[in-house]
Amino acid sequence: MIHLQEIKATLPPEVELVAVSKFHPAPLLQEAYNQGQRIFGESRVQELQAKQAELPKDIQWHFIGHLQPNKVKYIAPYISLIHAVDSFKLLAEIEKQAAKAQRTIPCLLQLHVAQEETKFGFTPAECTAMLEAGEWRKLKHVQIAGLMCMASNTDNEQQVEAEFAQAHAYFDELKARFFAEEPAFCQRSWGMSHDYQLAMKHGATLVRIGSAIFGEREY
Ligand SMILES: *Cc1c(COP(=O)(O)O)cnc(C)c1O
Repeated sequence: MIHLQEIKATLPPEVELVAVSKFHPAPLLQEAYNQGQRIFGESRVQELQAKQAELPKDIQWHFIGHLQPNKVKYIAPYISLIHAVDSFKLLAEIEKQAAKAQRTIPCLLQLHVAQEETKFGFTPAECTAMLEAGEWRKLKHVQIAGLMCMASNTDNEQQVEAEFAQAHAYFDELKARFFAEEPAFCQRSWGMSHDYQLAMKHGATLVRIGSAIFGEREY
């Protein structure tokens, strides 16, 4: 029993749903697929590999977790979008593996806006410095398609909204400074089960929803 349709009914047509299926078994993903869902988000390479082999080939797989450079090679042949690029080193490795696979891989830069120390991602200053350095312009098999962030895990909605608003403003700044001529730089991946309504108030174009669709994960 999944809640895909109920969640979809809450999304405007311009917001895309990434059904976050990590830790859920393939039959549950197949059920969502049968109901029309094509974009699935996973956060562990091994698990993604197994599901990709087993499930229909027209699924668009998004990698939403922290990705270690040495694992890029496994997913490069098929991954549709990598959400959480948090270093130039990772971007360079994606370039290398995408070239080998004769593809261009869309990527989002992960922005650190939350208060938690543990969340990965570039601070705005780090991200700007990386883009100013300009090396990324040489990467022909990587397409920087926007930003991703996770808000603080708190009940304080004002705090969460302030973080999404910060990410949105920063997106606009980068768009104007570095990507004005790049229509592909257009994605804002923010919002999970508990905060996607707030994320949509602040410009989310992709929401990553797991437990509200599939139920609680069993780790
Ligand atoms: C697990 C996960 C989600 C989905 O979380 P839910 O609370 O189940 O909706 C979204 N984004 C990332 C990066 C995740 O790891």
